Amino acid sequence: MSGATLPRSDEERPLFERIEELLADPAQQDNPLRTPLTELMAAFYDQLNQMDRITRISDRYQAAERARGAGHALNYRDQLRRLEKIVRISDRYQGMLRELNQRLEWLSNRDALTGLPNRRHALARLNEEHGRAQRSGKAVAIALVDIDHFKSINDSWGHEVGDQALAAVAARLAASIREYDMCARWGGEEFLVLLPETVASALPDSAERLRACIAADPFVIGDRQRTITVSLGVGCLQPGEDLTAFMKRVDDALYRAKHKGRNRFELSAPAAEFDNPPAAG
Ligand code: GH3
Ligand code: MG
Ligand code: MG
Repeated sequence: MSGATLPRSDEERPLFERIEELLADPAQQDNPLRTPLTELMAAFYDQLNQMDRITRISDRYQAAERARGAGHALNYRDQLRRLEKIVRISDRYQGMLRELNQRLEWLSNRDALTGLPNRRHALARLNEEHGRAQRSGKAVAIALVDIDHFKSINDSWGHEVGDQALAAVAARLAASIREYDMCARWGGEEFLVLLPETVASALPDSAERLRACIAADPFVIGDRQRTITVSLGVGCLQPGEDLTAFMKRVDDALYRAKHKGRNRFELSAPAAEFDNPPAAG
């Protein structure tokens, strides 16, 4: 294509361009229409300028609106990010609190010296098992285990060795029970072993196992081997038996084991009212 501009017909050119030409034409200087046409053109240019200004203002306004919208979107994303961060921190914090609570609960149920469940926890488990046994009729047995002559152990070996002996006895007892049994520190040098689903015929073996795990081998505490023994009272819960009454008769059995020479177990006979259960019907 050549760069030359082809002459255009009058119809092809804009009207204002043709009018400007006529106004500039010296031949039209005396044309009576020239003055009103000049005024009309001035008015036209004025209108054109105004429209141009309005368009520019409108463009600027739209651009500002777009920028504001983008700003809002940015702000929204920012807020969302902040919120997500807060939620994450809060989740972590709650997790830590939950862990701390679990740990505190665990600690509140433990005996500090032996690491065994403490009396509080043992009582809760006893009540649970008692309720379960009464509802289901399943057997549950307990053993009260008391270290023999512990006072003289303290006296001759010292209180610190006494503490170590307590922890060592606790560890052996805990290691000798089944997974679903529980060995707790009942108090001082006394332990309670809960034996769920242990029937009367199996109880002597369980009791003997607990006694032997302490007496069979001496303990190495400090720099010396030390022989320790325990006495036990054991019994099976009777259907309908009150927990306090049950504990009392097992404690009586422990007392008998002590009385009969220690390093032994005594079975608790059911209380008289359970000796002869009323005949059915
Ligand atoms: P028995 O064979 O009749 O049970 O005699 P025992 O000496 O074991 O029983 P007694 O009740 O006369 O004494 C228990 C001792 O256990 C007295 C107490 O100072 C000691 N004892 C209790 N708790 C602890 C403890 O946490 N650490 C130490 N070192 N000794 C304890
Ligand atoms: Mg004792
Ligand atoms: Mg005691």
